[in-house]
Amino acid sequence: MSTLLLEIVTPERKVYAQEVDMVVVKGEEGQLGIMPNHIPLVTPLQIAPVIVKKGKQEEIIAVNGGFVEVRKDKVVILAESAELPGDIDVERALAARQRAEQRLGSGRRDEIDYRRAELALQRAINRIELRNRVR
Ligand code: ATP
Repeated sequence: MSTLLLEIVTPERKVYAQEVDMVVVKGEEGQLGIMPNHIPLVTPLQIAPVIVKKGKQEEIIAVNGGFVEVRKDKVVILAESAELPGDIDVERALAARQRAEQRLGSGRRDEIDYRRAELALQRAINRIELRNRVR
């Protein structure tokens, strides 16, 4: 069976690079299952887990937004940040969640700050939920 190369890249590092059978991402317009020979496309991603299937194995990676580029036998995910489950510091994510919730609840309605806090909250929840899922 053919495979595709999945790369997950952030400005800091290459988080993941492996041949896989299938990648499931959450695009802005919904879930997308990508197998070899998928139609080429570029689409923005939600802050959500990416699921990777390799034989009977399944891996999950926290991807915090960004874009996916699909080519015939290669998928590249470019994100501001992404973590493998073992790299997630849960205490840090819990603290980030609390900070974001405080900002959202503080009554300040500066639009940019509010949006930033919403995204920080989503990143924190994504990390916490992912860690709970693989435990
Ligand atoms: P924080 O407020 O805790 O920095 P953040 O969501 O603002 O969280 P990002 O800007 O998304 O953080 O990421 C900055 C860097 O820190 C990235 O390399 C990211 O992978 C890493 N990072 C952020 N939070 C965690 C975490 N809870 N566990 C492990 N790495 C993290």
